[in-house]
Amino acid sequence: MADPLAAFRLDGRTALVTGAASGIGLAIARLFAGAGASVILADRDPAVEGIAADLGGRGVIADLADPAQVDALGDEPTDILACNAGIAGPAGPMHAMDDAARAALYAINLEHPIRLTARTAPAMAARGRGSIVLLSSIAGLRGNAGLGHYGITKAALAQLARNLAVEFGPQGVRANAIAPGLIATDWASAILSNPERTERRLGATPLRRVGTPGQVANAALFLASDAGGFVTGQTLVVDGGTLISDGN
Ligand code: NAD
Repeated sequence: MADPLAAFRLDGRTALVTGAASGIGLAIARLFAGAGASVILADRDPAVEGIAADLGGRGVIADLADPAQVDALGDEPTDILACNAGIAGPAGPMHAMDDAARAALYAINLEHPIRLTARTAPAMAARGRGSIVLLSSIAGLRGNAGLGHYGITKAALAQLARNLAVEFGPQGVRANAIAPGLIATDWASAILSNPERTERRLGATPLRRVGTPGQVANAALFLASDAGGFVTGQTLVVDGGTLISDGN
């Protein structure tokens, strides 16, 4: 009998994952490699080289807030791109964020996916296939008093996915975003290290728990593989229900 999960396999494909040295990016790289892809892991953390070697892939040490380093990465031929590297930036009201912090936040969260897809999507289109997954956030789907600029960058990624889907769909390229809720990574430690905030957040989440990087990676594999072959331009929310709940 044919493998019923064959559509989730990535054999013969190359996948580039940014921010792959930890958290969600690492889980995505591991899962893609396990599904048969040749993986390229990019991160500013030098540990990425050893991690990539363990996965039988290649590590690229790069600061993706630097346009030249993003462009160099964009020259890698790839069938699948997961733009995952991102930072939260300092918490506080939007007007209180200084110019340097705001520029740094927009450079990694928004400029890196725009630049990287500007190089990879046309190359995918020329080869007639490709799938792009952008790591957005539920912070980009509702208002936020503490991480306002972060939310703007994440809302823009959902729009970037829609634009790419429309522009490159006719050439066989799909683009989608994932909007995670609270996921147990270094990124979420600011919330998870504060028991009161954690309790409030989980109280507003129907599943009453924090998500795992692996659960986000599962969604990324669906979108990246032929299993998601008729899905494009979407933002898939992976949040235990936080967004749909009234908090009761
Ligand atoms: P993380 O901090 O665990 O990992 C982020 C990775 O990106 C790190 O390996 C880091 O070195 C890398 N990175 C950051 N800036 C970089 C740069 N300038 N150049 C190269 N690499 C860089 O975070 P995470 O929780 O795994 O988050 C991954 C993505 O998911 C982010 O875009 C984040 O906004 C998004 N997200 C996370 C959550 C969550 O709760 N964890 C929720 C929603 C969205």
